[in-house]
Amino acid sequence: MIENVIEGVWWIPGRDRFLPDSHMYVIGKAEFGEYTLVDCGLMEMGAYKLEELEHAGISLKAVKRIIMTHTHIDHIGCLPEILAAVPHAEVWIHKDEAAYLERGDDRIVYGNKMFESAIRSQYRVPDGTFTIKAHRKLEGEEEVNLGGIPFRILHIPGHSVGSIGLFNEEHRLFMSGDTIYADGAIGRYDLASADAGQLKKSLERIADLRVDILLPCHNRIVKGGADPMVRNTVRQWGALLGS
Ligand SMILES: [Zn+2]
Ligand SMILES: [Zn+2]
Repeated sequence: MIENVIEGVWWIPGRDRFLPDSHMYVIGKAEFGEYTLVDCGLMEMGAYKLEELEHAGISLKAVKRIIMTHTHIDHIGCLPEILAAVPHAEVWIHKDEAAYLERGDDRIVYGNKMFESAIRSQYRVPDGTFTIKAHRKLEGEEEVNLGGIPFRILHIPGHSVGSIGLFNEEHRLFMSGDTIYADGAIGRYDLASADAGQLKKSLERIADLRVDILLPCHNRIVKGGADPMVRNTVRQWGALLGS
């Protein structure tokens, strides 16, 4: 069920089945009357998330944009389904992954050939499903106001080339996508466009943020006191990711 994290930030947990389904986050203070969705989920996992939004009193008409932390299938799979319900919403994606989607190149979406054939045998995915236009191509370091809450966009490549995170300074709240999780794990770095060396640098940047509230896109979240766990995770994985 949808859960409030701080004023103006909600968490809609993903529903993993045989494949993972990313969480969705919702950002926006009621008095601002506009909302941002962060990530969508796997195919067919959009409808329940939209219902939960409405349960929380968030009108779909007030959804102004969808920001993708990156474009893997478990995050972007139901973007077309969600866009059909909020056709007025903009899509914001880091420019390095937007470039793939705009030319219909779905190698990052599927990650590798094995995942592509497994997913395409499970779901009917017509060709061209992931030819998607980004209304705003992010570069990193943008300061954005999302429904009354300021965030800085961080480009944190490694898990994928255009992975981003969203950082709110006041609450030291960080939406980390798949780059770092709350259980000592980090994102895999063997899929299309991944890079272990870049991931190491991105993790070190995250450790320097002194994150208090950690909101990753899978598994549990941390509503406060995340910093020692984050720095410990970065230290342990840093040794494995090389110099
Ligand atoms: Zn991912
Ligand atoms: Zn994921």
